[in-house]
Amino acid sequence: MSEVEGHRDGDRGYLCAFLSAGRPATNMSTSPEHVKCLIIGSGPAGFSAAIYAARADLKPLMIEGPLPGGQLTQTTEVDNYPGYPKGRSGPEMMNDLREQALRFDTVIRNGWVTKVDFTGPVHKVWVDEKTEIHADTVIISTGASAKWLGLPNEIRLRDIGGGVTACAVCDGFFYKGQNVVLVGAGDSACEEATYLAKLCPKVYMLVRKGEFRASKAMVHRVENTPNIEVLFHTEVKDVLGEHAVDGVLAVNNKTGEERKLDVTGLFIAIGHTPATEIFKGWLDMDEAGYLKHEADRTSTKIPGVFVAGDAADKVYRQAVTSAGSGCMAALDAERWLAAQGKH
Ligand code: NDP
Repeated sequence: MSEVEGHRDGDRGYLCAFLSAGRPATNMSTSPEHVKCLIIGSGPAGFSAAIYAARADLKPLMIEGPLPGGQLTQTTEVDNYPGYPKGRSGPEMMNDLREQALRFDTVIRNGWVTKVDFTGPVHKVWVDEKTEIHADTVIISTGASAKWLGLPNEIRLRDIGGGVTACAVCDGFFYKGQNVVLVGAGDSACEEATYLAKLCPKVYMLVRKGEFRASKAMVHRVENTPNIEVLFHTEVKDVLGEHAVDGVLAVNNKTGEERKLDVTGLFIAIGHTPATEIFKGWLDMDEAGYLKHEADRTSTKIPGVFVAGDAADKVYRQAVTSAGSGCMAALDAERWLAAQGKH
């Protein structure tokens, strides 16, 4: 593990700050380190929780997780986060959030939480399977990751910002006036197709079965949007284009018939996977793995354990809503500690 204490980290760039900052973990004693507030995950929810927790003097320790900075480090421009009138790249935005968390008393460490034990009043967490940490409060902000089709050209164009994305609300604006393909048949896909249809002259919606999985109301919205063309039994065979999407080769999985769709964007809406596996058996979650919390609160069924961001949100999934829930989790943690006489 490497560690960055709560101070300004100079002018180092994002990758430098994330990959090589700090020094080895300093806790060399045999008894586990004890912190008031442990934050798991380093997306907008985690950093917002850190900023609030640090300013409340909870001296938070953040364990970054396998993808420091979270999903936004894999996006290009972010134009819908308030406070950036000219937009900001995802990695730059995450670096801004990180710098802000470091301005106060936050300690950020590389590492991956691999096990938890929420049996006792003190919550036990293991980092990289070996380092045990004890925490009075835990804020889970482990996020979720979009599912992809797994086609080589899809992944290549996604990684170079070449027109393959999994968030219509984030990226739809860039395709205003252009034709796009959207893949999926659930509620997200229907919502995103109707969103895109307001910006794009034509939205091809590729559904691999002969029916939708979405609720009737959502399907009704799609069916009543004239510029959405639903292609049932249809899958993506290949994504065309060297540096940017220049078409999608679709195939009918019943007849084998292929068709080139003239589009410049490919939106994938085939579901997300919340990173909540290690909490199975400890916390309540829905069938897809999204963590449950109290209504109007971020508290889970374990006292002192709170959840923020996409790990508990399958509906909104935006950076700004994640950041808001991170703030809420830190406030809930602080109030809970105060009520326990621990802060
Ligand atoms: P879902 O898991 O509900 O749907 C995923 C869809 O993607 C399915 O139709 C599935 O097809 C399709 N799919 C999966 N893999 C592939 C593939 N490789 N190729 C083509 N298609 C594929 O995910 P959602 O994100 O839509 O929804 C997740 C949860 O969030 C649901 O419970 C949903 O109700 C909820 N939600 C609620 C919203 C709301 O209330 N406003 C908005 C958005 C989501 P198939 O049907 O063939 O398996």
